[in-house]
Amino acid sequence: MAVLCRLIRARPITSYTVRTFCSPYSTSSPPSSPEIGAISPSLASTKTSDGRNVQWVFLGCPGVGKGTYASRLSKLLGVPHIATGDLVRDELNTKGPLASQLSEIVNQGKLVSDHFIINLLSKRLEVGEAKGESGFILDGFPRTIRQAEILEGVTNIDLVINLKLREEALLAKCLGRRTCSQCGGNYNVACIDIKADDENPAMFMPPLLPPPHCASKLVTRSDDTEHVVKERLRIYNEKSRPVEVFYRKQGKLLEFDLPGGISESWTKLLQVLNLDDHEDKRSAAA
Ligand SMILES: [Zn+2]
Repeated sequence: MAVLCRLIRARPITSYTVRTFCSPYSTSSPPSSPEIGAISPSLASTKTSDGRNVQWVFLGCPGVGKGTYASRLSKLLGVPHIATGDLVRDELNTKGPLASQLSEIVNQGKLVSDHFIINLLSKRLEVGEAKGESGFILDGFPRTIRQAEILEGVTNIDLVINLKLREEALLAKCLGRRTCSQCGGNYNVACIDIKADDENPAMFMPPLLPPPHCASKLVTRSDDTEHVVKERLRIYNEKSRPVEVFYRKQGKLLEFDLPGGISESWTKLLQVLNLDDHEDKRSAAA
């Protein structure tokens, strides 16, 4: 933990070129939507007064798609995407003394301890600092109130994006996840097509199918079974809902209900954050 404190305080402040940022709520009307929680427009800024890069957090149930959106935003904003799930999986792959202990916890769908996660995160930030990184988008951290408090004590989080998806869609999405064993590409074979009911609009999420050269090499993660997915959701509800409350009280929580598949959701997320993906437009126009 001391390592984390030192690292974050010692982080150099570098100048930041905002490639794609539109000033918040400038000419057009503010993006308003019933599912977006009240949040100050200034929070969705990509630059702080001291010039450092964004320090954002993605919250949401396991499998909701935090990784996808965090990764796209990190590329757009030029900050590292730090997924604690990846840090854990990388550690598992080292086959070191901690790996077997970790593997048992993960395969049961249990949470890895705060101490362990913080050590992994410290190591990651240290490596990034050496490479001159500034700012971050955290994905999968903080996951408990204790972790949120530790993070609060050492650095400022500018914005917390809470991704939400109704449970039946979430379960189908988790069970449909596949990874290419050769190139590591992530795909999803589930086609989610839910009819509208009295409370919810219809939802369609198309599958994310692999290219032909990956199709025969798809594997399912060992922890993507219905039992483990449900256990992860139960634990998330118990331990992580309070984290949402913690950030809501600080006025930093942006509630975002995923409207459908990635392309529809990404467009809407950018709109809510007042960001413009010029590269997306260029490639669409090409
Ligand atoms: Zn592949």
